[in-house]
Amino acid sequence: MMKPQRIDPGAQPALLASLRAAFAGRLITDPSDAAPFLRDWRGKWTGRAIAIAQPDTTADAASIVAWCAENAVAVVPQGGNTGLSGGSVPESTGLNLVLSTSRLNKVRLVDSVNNVMVVEAGVTLQQVQEHAEAAGRFFPLSLAAQGSCTIGGNLSTNAGGVQVLRYGNIRDLCLGLEVVTAGGQVWDGLRALRKDNTGYDLRGLFIGSEGTLGVITAAVLKLFPPPAARAAAFAAVPSPSAAAQLLQLAQEALGPRLTAFELLSEACLGLVLRHIPAARRPLDGISPWYALLEASGENEANPIADVLTDVLGTALEEGAISDAAVSSSVSQFRELWALRENISESQAAEGRTIKHDISLPISAIPEFIESTSAALGAAFPGTRMVVFGHLGDGNLHFNLSPAPNADVARARAFEQLEAPVNQLVHDAVAARGGSISAEHGLGVLRRDEAARYKTGVEIQLMRAVKNALDPLGTMNPAKVLSP
Ligand code: FAD
Ligand code: ZN
Repeated sequence: MMKPQRIDPGAQPALLASLRAAFAGRLITDPSDAAPFLRDWRGKWTGRAIAIAQPDTTADAASIVAWCAENAVAVVPQGGNTGLSGGSVPESTGLNLVLSTSRLNKVRLVDSVNNVMVVEAGVTLQQVQEHAEAAGRFFPLSLAAQGSCTIGGNLSTNAGGVQVLRYGNIRDLCLGLEVVTAGGQVWDGLRALRKDNTGYDLRGLFIGSEGTLGVITAAVLKLFPPPAARAAAFAAVPSPSAAAQLLQLAQEALGPRLTAFELLSEACLGLVLRHIPAARRPLDGISPWYALLEASGENEANPIADVLTDVLGTALEEGAISDAAVSSSVSQFRELWALRENISESQAAEGRTIKHDISLPISAIPEFIESTSAALGAAFPGTRMVVFGHLGDGNLHFNLSPAPNADVARARAFEQLEAPVNQLVHDAVAARGGSISAEHGLGVLRRDEAARYKTGVEIQLMRAVKNALDPLGTMNPAKVLSP
């Protein structure tokens, strides 16, 4: 396999001149304008690039990728740059071009007869939701970064979010793709079919590949009828195992009408109450854990809020919850959700974080939380657990923060703990048959750890796919798989 060559700095002006000649008007080369594209959302990684390219059309994107292949320049696709694994930031070694999808931002079609829409990769998730709503339809993917993250980024990381329980990951919401291959050809796979068994699942390969196989330029997305009525409930649960019991009760009573089931600890709620001025405590007492449930669906004889209230009544009788509140207006619904959605931002406001995005069989989660938190407390005293996540999907954001008001020395000491903390947590996950990246991808953050936990056969198959689709190794090198 031919690797992209390290170009000596003397060769750079000639390359830049060639780029400028070919793509005038769609390049950012000024260092201060380029800076935001070279650094990730958390400020954890910073890279270098010869330029940022902003193609206007699929054909334009294809010619930029072809130029890169010819000149052995690495292509780093970038959407909203909200990814949490460092996949969208170029390396600081080697020669990179960031391909930003910011101008591939057209909604090509909204079809409410076939319940599909066709959007370009750079359309933000929120714009997709708004276009669907304007056509009387619903696009269910929902996550806290939706104002900035793009459909291309969502697809490339196989994003999850808070509606997976009912609607699945974005993999389940995509019918077709348009992709620029590593060699600069366009694969038009924009089929709007619910059934298509005509060979290898290429769409499935590109979804979740984090820009290492090609550039997604457009997608066919599935639309749904809008949920007629929605209600949210916030319940105090004595423990994660009581939350798992509540989840089971809610699933039995609500079936597919249970659209989200989230878990958060009192420590998470405390963070949000400290940092988000509008947030207020939804229940009178304090509980070690809380569950946030969302139910949706229409049944005039039996409104959804009443069904949810009945479930909570049963849970109270069975000791799975100690208290609960059900939203009775849209503003209350939003207030309850804001408590969950502002956790990441509030945690970031209290210094560095050590994050884990893990998944496990749901039945293994209560014991995992208890024993792993105890092991971390014993091995790394002075750290704070910040545990929350999508319990209904078996996915936890099992995070740590330094002690409150840690001084500079302590904050620095906390940062040094990242590798041993990761190892302890991920060994515990692997021992229980879980995954070390449930929804954020591998990027550079989890690349080497994933290789440690996967079998040799799995890594070999992944490398075979990479070599077949990107023989020159120019597509987002050093992400997902080590070079
Ligand atoms: P980027 O960050 O730009 O890129 C992500 C990866 O995809 C990179 O490897 C990049 O090279 C590649 N890529 C981007 N666009 C393309 C393209 N068109 N073609 C090929 N490759 C491409 N994620 C979840 O799954 N669930 C959550 O609940 C969630 N919550 C979040 C909350 C906050 C506050 C933040 C900051 C992030 C959250 N994320 C979550 C992570 C992030 O928002 C998602 O990973 C999102 O899908 C990334 O989209 P993006 O457009 O920002 O992609
Ligand atoms: Zn999440």
